Amino acid sequence: LSSQPTFDTTIKRRKTRPVKVGNVTIGGGHPVVVQSMINEDTLDVDGSVAAIRRLHEIGCEIVRVTVPSMAHAKALAEIKQKLIKTYQDVPIVADVHHNGMKIALEVAKHIEKVRINPGLYVFEKPNPNRTEYTKVEFDEIGEKIRETLEPLVISLRDQGKAMRIGVNHGSLAERMLFTYGDTPEGMVQSAIEFIRICESLDFHNLVISLKASRVPVMIAAYRLMVQRMDELGMDYPLHLGVTEAGDGEYGRIKSTAGIATLLADGIGDTIRVSLTESPEKEIPVCYSILQALGLRKTMVEYVACPSCGRTLFNLEEVLHKVREATKHLTGLDIAVMGCIVNGPGEMADADYGYVGKTPGYISLYRGREEIKKVPEEHGVEELINLIKADGRWVEP
Ligand code: SF4
Repeated sequence: LSSQPTFDTTIKRRKTRPVKVGNVTIGGGHPVVVQSMINEDTLDVDGSVAAIRRLHEIGCEIVRVTVPSMAHAKALAEIKQKLIKTYQDVPIVADVHHNGMKIALEVAKHIEKVRINPGLYVFEKPNPNRTEYTKVEFDEIGEKIRETLEPLVISLRDQGKAMRIGVNHGSLAERMLFTYGDTPEGMVQSAIEFIRICESLDFHNLVISLKASRVPVMIAAYRLMVQRMDELGMDYPLHLGVTEAGDGEYGRIKSTAGIATLLADGIGDTIRVSLTESPEKEIPVCYSILQALGLRKTMVEYVACPSCGRTLFNLEEVLHKVREATKHLTGLDIAVMGCIVNGPGEMADADYGYVGKTPGYISLYRGREEIKKVPEEHGVEELINLIKADGRWVEP
């Protein structure tokens, strides 16, 4: 076997610069960071502290909080202090809108990262008869954006903090829409315009996102962004997400279709799954995507056959029992296979196997080696004993 050719199946991640957000680093080869956003009112300081803590305790590494007014900025400062005193210093991102430069400057003093949406930096007056922008008009607005953004960029730069340039397909500025269309190109141009302003002020702690609610649009935008950044010699990390993915099974599938496709290409340094459910529900989806792609291993990997006419026990029931007994472990691969015919071959990479042997009996495997045959009713218990004997068990 050792002479057989090998093939490296690990995902080669795009090289990006490390961007520090408090005690977490995005990019620079660090594990893909999981983040989410609380939906409490920021003015509810205790409620927000509790929500951030709940998310952080289940693996949300950076938490976003909305800051629509100066009162919210002050409340977020309080939230941050309370977290430090009563729990720990969780990295916080403040979501700030264009008309809130004073808010952004205030909140930037207290938290680690500010998210801005270029599409909301609108200076043009609404004019239903307008069909285009001349280059002069386009550049004049660009200059106003620069003047508006500059103090925030300087503040974040001088404090060693970060910014997310978060473009949304649904809120592109009119001049971008007229010039580049409602397209991934418009999204990319919008991000690049803001990156250039930051770069001209020697600020590079940037994370870029180009979210859309349509998966093909989102995928195209990120791919185009990577191509453009490569051409321009930019190495900013990317924050992936599908906006308004909805809820339930389809919301999860839609998010996975967009996020995992890009991650599999090596694109993406931090992810958020946006569900119309409580944010706690987003975190396991994030970790499952990362685990399925082999990017982060945070739970037991279960390999199980779909069952068929050869299956020798109730596979669904046994898989459930095995999962319940072992789900607190980390770093293990456990296979549950209905029969011996294809079983051991199919589960060759697993650390342990639970395989139907003959009616009423199962076999336990360590890797490819069959360890013992036991009556089915003792199967799960004996599997645990085997893991214990190998010193790989921890009490739940
Ligand atoms: Fe059927 Fe056996 Fe394959 Fe499971 S491992 S699907 S029981 S043949």
